[in-house]
Amino acid sequence: MQTAIGVDLGGSHVTAAVVTEDGAIHRQHEEDLEDLRFEAVIAALDATIGLALKEAGDVVGIGIGSPGNIDAASGAVLYSPNFGWENAPLGESLRQKFGRPVFVANDARCATLGEYTFGTGKRTKDFVLLTLGTGIGGGIVARGELLLGNRWGAGEIGHHQIRPADGFVCTCGKIGCFEAQASGTGLIRHAFALAPSFPRSTLLDVARDKLSSKKIRRAAQAGDGHALAAWKNFAADLSIGLANAIAFVNPQKIALGGGVSSAGDFMLDSIRPQVDLLTTMVPRGTTEIVVAALGNDAGQVGAATMALRGGLTTGASVAA
Ligand SMILES: [Zn+2]
Repeated sequence: MQTAIGVDLGGSHVTAAVVTEDGAIHRQHEEDLEDLRFEAVIAALDATIGLALKEAGDVVGIGIGSPGNIDAASGAVLYSPNFGWENAPLGESLRQKFGRPVFVANDARCATLGEYTFGTGKRTKDFVLLTLGTGIGGGIVARGELLLGNRWGAGEIGHHQIRPADGFVCTCGKIGCFEAQASGTGLIRHAFALAPSFPRSTLLDVARDKLSSKKIRRAAQAGDGHALAAWKNFAADLSIGLANAIAFVNPQKIALGGGVSSAGDFMLDSIRPQVDLLTTMVPRGTTEIVVAALGNDAGQVGAATMALRGGLTTGASVAA
């Protein structure tokens, strides 16, 4: 069985895994990222990939999922606000270091390839993955092919505006992006925005940077009034974005990954009726909303799959 290295490059850590062509992860190495300058990140990648390579033996190549707008042909990071990079030659630098094929693509697109091939996307042809974490990453599979767009930008569903008039400011600079409203960070912002209405709430009695979306979700599940109100606004915004995604793609399935999706049925039950109400021209019930199966592994598995296939292809023409 063929093997590749799959790398998930995040804003706070890098994880390199040995992955076989059946999508199984064998070994993982993780390193925290404190310095986000290009040379420091290359050094962290060098270390983690080096360890994975030692264990893997013979590998076909190295696949890397990175935040930002990536030129998947060259492996250059054209623009990444998370890292503060522009035109960073990520793929080329690692090709020179390791002397092996290196493929780089947007992390959410890699996760979509992983979830489509080995998770909830299996046996579908039209599929969307949305990862609800610090932001919202997205990827679209249409008729069995991952959409890349003219300049690798297809799937940036997190940055369509759903509340341009009164929403939160997004990391991209726009107001009321889907990501600003309905990511884990969005849930936290809803809780803070509602604080004046809940003067006796204890929900926010922690340092602002310690309040997690998980804490709010758990408090909501336990019946806390403030948390429930925040969850309600979050679920309403999430539903708007999901209904929009259905209008654009009408996929068989939309899988929700990322930290917030660990809420499972609590989340699905609070969004499905609203998504139905907002789904007008697309026949209702023709898009199923589910929780993603691969969790945090989707990015590494997808990145390795990209390396095994020699690019961001779903293999649709082979599998069909
Ligand atoms: Zn945005």
